[in-house]
Amino acid sequence: VPFVAFDQVSLAYDDSGNAIEDISLTIEEGEFVAFVGPSGCGKSTFMKLCTGLHGPTAGQVRVDGTPVGGPLKISGMAFQNANLLPWRTTLDNVLLPLEIVKPYRSQFRKRRAEFVGWARDLLRTVGLEGYEDQFPWQLSGGMQQRASICRALIHRPRLLMLDEPFAALDAFTREELWCVLRDLWEAQRFTVVLVTHDLREAAFLADTVYVMSRRPGRIIERRTIDLPRP
Ligand code: ADP
Ligand code: ADP
Repeated sequence: VPFVAFDQVSLAYDDSGNAIEDISLTIEEGEFVAFVGPSGCGKSTFMKLCTGLHGPTAGQVRVDGTPVGGPLKISGMAFQNANLLPWRTTLDNVLLPLEIVKPYRSQFRKRRAEFVGWARDLLRTVGLEGYEDQFPWQLSGGMQQRASICRALIHRPRLLMLDEPFAALDAFTREELWCVLRDLWEAQRFTVVLVTHDLREAAFLADTVYVMSRRPGRIIERRTIDLPRP
């Protein structure tokens, strides 16, 4: 059974027509897929359908064999804006999902020391050792985005959704974070759905790249990437 399955999925927000039209595809567990296409082609809508933040107007979305009803618990997310809570330290921002998501939520008080250990380990792997007690405004944009990736992964989600996560970073930082993400993915093999404008980013990171057309959002090409990576 594929991990994510779209079967003839369309979505119309209002009566102005479909934002996404007739998308059928499957994503295997552990696959890294990227969606590229012009602004407005439906990339964010596709992500919302994957995570159950929106239901389809037609067709069906299944994740792990089950039709997606409401918001999905097994996913982690990161966006263009790191969206760290300004009143929390790096460490406490990363811990946040463990305070909210089952089954960790009910164990949070009792296992806090262990969870802090996980957060510290993860922060170390993305190069943020020593910044655990800083506040977001004390971190550079790239560091904030590293922390937001840690927050997206701390509860070990099976599905990681990334919506333009590197778009606001300078070219050097962006490419550094590509490597950070690849390393995390190679170690843990969660499934990744990445939405990006950047074709080079898509080709560097993903196994499979889907190219979407302008509205109505359709998939016009699917390419398997088999390039040598540094
Ligand atoms: P992308 O992420 O590729 O820029 P989106 O998925 O955000 O594209 O948008 C796809 C289309 O759906 C666009 O035409 C956009 O204007 C429209 N759209 C997105 N969100 C809404 C909404 N909440 N209500 C109405 N239309 C929307
Ligand atoms: P199991 O279901 O077999 O207990 P888990 O994946 O829950 O497997 O845990 C395997 C190991 O990884 C355990 O040592 C656990 O403490 C640790 N672990 C689980 N979740 C996380 C996490 N989010 N961050 C760091 N370590 C974790």
